[in-house]
Amino acid sequence: MKIMYSIIAPIYNEIDNLPELYRRVKEVMDSNGEPWELILVDDGSMDGSTEKIRELAQKDKTVRPVIFARNFGHQVAITAGWDYARGDAIVIIDADLQDPPEVILELAKKWKEGYEVVYAVRGEREGESWFKLWTASIFYRLIYRITDVKIPVDTGDFRLMDRKVVNVLKRMKERHRFPRGMSAWVGFKQIGVTYKRAARHAGVTKYPFKKMFRLAINAITSFSYFPLQVATFFGFFSAGISILAIPVVIVMRMAGNGAFFGQATTLIAVLFLGGVQLISLGILGEYVGRLYDEAKGRPLYIVRDEPEG
Ligand code: UDP
Ligand code: MG
Repeated sequence: MKIMYSIIAPIYNEIDNLPELYRRVKEVMDSNGEPWELILVDDGSMDGSTEKIRELAQKDKTVRPVIFARNFGHQVAITAGWDYARGDAIVIIDADLQDPPEVILELAKKWKEGYEVVYAVRGEREGESWFKLWTASIFYRLIYRITDVKIPVDTGDFRLMDRKVVNVLKRMKERHRFPRGMSAWVGFKQIGVTYKRAARHAGVTKYPFKKMFRLAINAITSFSYFPLQVATFFGFFSAGISILAIPVVIVMRMAGNGAFFGQATTLIAVLFLGGVQLISLGILGEYVGRLYDEAKGRPLYIVRDEPEG
């Protein structure tokens, strides 16, 4: 039987969400009637989720387990899902039921109308701290402004993509990944569907501030040279100031004004320039480090147990 829908859920310590996730996805997809599979990618869980996934897969062949050798991160888990998916429509969904499985059918409707990427836009968000909402909002808008790709705002990874799109994404082997950006970059016919993002069913977020920050840096560096351009701007800016300052100082000194005498002025100028240089070096380092990672060409992820078939 040809699989029509592949539902991919990355799992990192989601033991209390797994049974409910399975139940709701099954309910929705069975009601739809077309053949489907649920790919559970275990991203190095340590709370027994791995055993739970195996147990579900044992009982029901529609569940396909991909078990990582360690934690490789959410984005990489999604990528592994793409690699193992066999369906014509590939859906990425969070395991914590913040993305209601019922919305999949709405996405599928648009897909049947001929759209190749149907992304789910977070209209409302329940049960999230103001800090998360605020940082997320800034994040989406910043990315939208400075990257060269128009990545839709308020949109996470929850989306349905046509087989054609996923085949292209599978060829994009970049290491520091930002799937939402990648799926905007490829083009194709895209559309958004607004939904209400629920609160977590159980457990706590696996995205502490540090990880969110990393993701933001990945998003920016993967899709723009903006930080490098900022460094260039600051270079020109400080060079410009010093060129302007030279005649001003000469004139003031000739007029007998002592405003620019003394160590403090020198110290400030040196510190400012030193700061600008170090920051620029750091930005350059981010890009060089990424180049180095790409050059090593290590596998993106290591799978301990593969699904059958
Ligand atoms: N996740 C993962 N690996 C990680 C972190 C998270 O596979 O290193 C999964 C997690 O299990 C969940 C999804 O990514 O299914 C989204 O994570 P979470 O709900 O914690 O993020 P939030 O919704 O708080 O942004
Ligand atoms: Mg979540």
